[in-house]
Amino acid sequence: MVKPYLGNSKHTIEIIKKYEFVFQKKFGQNFLIDTHVLDRIFDAAKICEDDFVLEIGPGIGTLTQYLASSARKVVAVEIDGALIPILKDTLRDYSNVEVIHSDILKIDLKELIREQNQGRAIKVVANLPYYITTPILMELLEKRISITSITVMVQKEVAKRMCQGPGSKDYGALSLAVQYYSEPSVVANVPPNCFLPRPKVGSAVIQLKIHEKPPVDTVDVHLMFQLIRASFNQRRKTLVNGLLNSPELFLKKEDIHIALEKCGLPVDIRGEKLNLSQFAKLSDIFVEQLSQKK
Ligand code: SAM
Repeated sequence: MVKPYLGNSKHTIEIIKKYEFVFQKKFGQNFLIDTHVLDRIFDAAKICEDDFVLEIGPGIGTLTQYLASSARKVVAVEIDGALIPILKDTLRDYSNVEVIHSDILKIDLKELIREQNQGRAIKVVANLPYYITTPILMELLEKRISITSITVMVQKEVAKRMCQGPGSKDYGALSLAVQYYSEPSVVANVPPNCFLPRPKVGSAVIQLKIHEKPPVDTVDVHLMFQLIRASFNQRRKTLVNGLLNSPELFLKKEDIHIALEKCGLPVDIRGEKLNLSQFAKLSDIFVEQLSQKK
């Protein structure tokens, strides 16, 4: 197996010229051209010879070469048909890579893992297309796909949001979802000059270590996330108004007041002040109220 040789601007430009590749803005194409950053991602993901790795959006195969040099198997899903012949070329010496030409959001990942890794946990590593970072991460987390860790490049702001707690302006529904399913940590901040073309925003590599068991217990996870979404949809409103205005929830004002009192929270509190265990407790109280009404 050859050593990864892409990952700098000279080789990336050579490949792009050879294939007359045209960058597609709509696919969020910003290719990595910095070997230090690639090393940081690779080191953080701790890929070993038994690992099955899913890469989302391999581009010309830069990160894929790194992953394939250590993993047992890499499956790389790329939406842009123009990159498929390029990947065939750049990955020809890596027999443990399979490229799938598809939209990642249209793939049945549970089935893929069952078929290709006997259902055993995989690692996800990617320089994500920024226009669909949140849908991709939510798909990976909410569907309870068997994953040990997700190590991905995202917009710096998004990485910040994932790690925040109550009291920060960046705290929101994404922070709570990510923290319910995983333990996030920022691995590296990455400036625009590490990509071709340069993105307008700063980036960060974030790692999500998936919890074996969520940090809070709650009877109805779906309801808890409905409450969370409703609370942050109207950040400037009180929690009571946020819940009353939600098209997903049909709660009565007096029931919300009773629930808040049971949680020891004032009726004029805003949703952004609550932590994950408080949302879990609130959700359980609503479940109890509903069961008493049946
Ligand atoms: N991994 C490469 C690198 O680091 O140089 C490219 C990363 S680039 C930020 C994002 C990649 O995701 C592009 O190759 C793009 O075509 C691909 N992509 C965009 N949307 C996608 C989708 N829905 N499914 C699969 N791949 C997608």
